[in-house]
Amino acid sequence: MTKEPYDLLIKNAVYFAENQLRQGHILVRQGKIDCILTSDSDITQVMADSVIDGTGLVVFPGFIDSHVHFRDPGATAKEDFFTGSCAAAAGGFTTVCDMPNVTPCTCTAETLMAKIADAEKKSLVDFGFYGAAGFGNFDQLAAMDKIGITGFKTFLQPGPKGQEENFSGLVAYDDGELWRLMNETAKIGTRHFFHCENYKIIEKMAAYLHEIGEEGYNFHYQSRPNIAEVQSIATVLQFARVTGQKVGICHISTAEGCELVKKAKAAGMDVVGETCFHYLVYSHAAIDTYGPFAKCNPPLRSQEDVDGLWAYIADGTIDMIGSDHAPHQYEEKLVGMEKEIWKAPSGIPSIETFIPTMLNQVAKGKLTPEQLVGLVSEHTAKVFGLYPRKGCIAPGSDGDFTIIDFNRETVIDITKMYTKGRKNNVMFDGVKVQGRVCYTIVRGNIVMENGVVATQEKGWGSYIYREKEDNRAYAEEKDDYHHNRR
Ligand SMILES: [Zn+2]
Repeated sequence: MTKEPYDLLIKNAVYFAENQLRQGHILVRQGKIDCILTSDSDITQVMADSVIDGTGLVVFPGFIDSHVHFRDPGATAKEDFFTGSCAAAAGGFTTVCDMPNVTPCTCTAETLMAKIADAEKKSLVDFGFYGAAGFGNFDQLAAMDKIGITGFKTFLQPGPKGQEENFSGLVAYDDGELWRLMNETAKIGTRHFFHCENYKIIEKMAAYLHEIGEEGYNFHYQSRPNIAEVQSIATVLQFARVTGQKVGICHISTAEGCELVKKAKAAGMDVVGETCFHYLVYSHAAIDTYGPFAKCNPPLRSQEDVDGLWAYIADGTIDMIGSDHAPHQYEEKLVGMEKEIWKAPSGIPSIETFIPTMLNQVAKGKLTPEQLVGLVSEHTAKVFGLYPRKGCIAPGSDGDFTIIDFNRETVIDITKMYTKGRKNNVMFDGVKVQGRVCYTIVRGNIVMENGVVATQEKGWGSYIYREKEDNRAYAEEKDDYHHNRR
C-alpha cells in the first residue's frame, strides 16, 4: 500500500457492475477508480482525503444527462454553465451533454472551442458538446468532429425569426436540405441526432386552430399532433437507410415514433432512441393544468402514449433518457399564462427533478435499478463513445458516482433548486418521491452532498471528447490537464 493518500474511499459500497449488485470498498486515485477491495481488513490502513460510508446506500456509475440546454453563450439570464452545472450536480449528474442552439450557435470549430474554454472555467461536472449541423455549415462538420463532439444535432425547421443566420448551421428547412446534409454527415460517420417534428404540419395546424378559435392551453398539443413527430422520424430513418448514416432520434414522445425506431433496429440499422422522463410520467393533462409551465416540444402526449412508451423502455428500443433541461425566465413563461400559450417559450428546467422522478418509478416497480443504470449511464456512455471511462464502476474508469438512498422519502422543493429556471418547475413542486440522491461525485471529487452543491468547485468539470482514433492526440492532452489540476 503506497503512502500517498487516495482521493476518495467509499467503504461498504453496494454498487452496480456488469448489471449486478456487488459489494466492496471503492478507492479512487488521481480521479480514476484505482481498485475495489472486498475484504474489510484491506482498508484498515487506507488513507483517503474523503471517506464515505456507503452502508444503506446504492452506488451507481455517475449519471449522464444526454440532453441539456444550458443557454450559454447568448441567453445567460435563463441559465449559464455554472448554474446549469450546479443544477446537474444537485440532480445527480456527473456528466452532461449540452445542445448547440445557443448564440453564437455551436456550428463552427471556432464557436465550439470558445464554448469549451468558457465552460472549463464554470462547470462543476464533466460535459460533452453536440455540434450543430445544418444546411449552412457543411465546411465546419469535419473540423468540429475532430474536436470530439458528442454528435451532430439538427432541428428540422427554419431558424427562429430574426435569427436565421445564427441558426443556418443548425437547421434543415426541408427534405432537400436534409437529404444533402445527411449525405455530408454520412461521410464523417459520427452519429447525427435530430429534433423530429414536421414544422409544416405544426404551422398549418396552428393557423387552423386560431381560425376556429381553439386557443386554450390545449392549443399547444393540438397544434403539434403525434403525426408531426411520427412523419418526421419516418423521413429521417428513410434517409438514414439510404445514406448509411448512424442517427439518433431525440426526445421521442409517441409510442408510434418508438415503433418506427424498433423496426429500424430490427432491420439492422444503427439508430439510437432517446426519450425524456416527463414523457414517461406526465400526459397533456399537465398542460391543461399548468399551461406554459408544462409546455415543451414535442408536447406532453395522451395517457395512451405515456403508457405506451414504457413498453419500449422494457424492450430496449429506448437506449437513453435525457432531461431536455430547458430553462427560461419566469416572466417569459407568464406571457402564456392568460391564454395565448403560443407566446410562451417551450421547455421545462427539469435536470433537478429527473432522477427523483425516476427513483420514484423504481420504488413503484415500473423500472428496475438495472434498467436505470443503462438508461442514464451505461448506454449513454456507450452511445457517446465514453465507455468504459464513463458509465462503469471498474478499476481504470473515472471516479464518477451517483449515490442513492432508496429508503429516504423526499418532497421536491423548487426554492432549493440551483437552476435559474427554478420558479418554472411548478408542476413538480411539493411532489413526494421515494428515493434521494445523496452524493454526486466527479472524478473522485464530491460536488454535491445531501442536496448541497459544492459551488466552490466551479471549474472542476472538464470537456469530455468522444473517443475516436483521429482525436486521440487531443484526448491525451486533456488527460494531462486533469492530472495537473490535482
Ligand atoms: Zn432539447
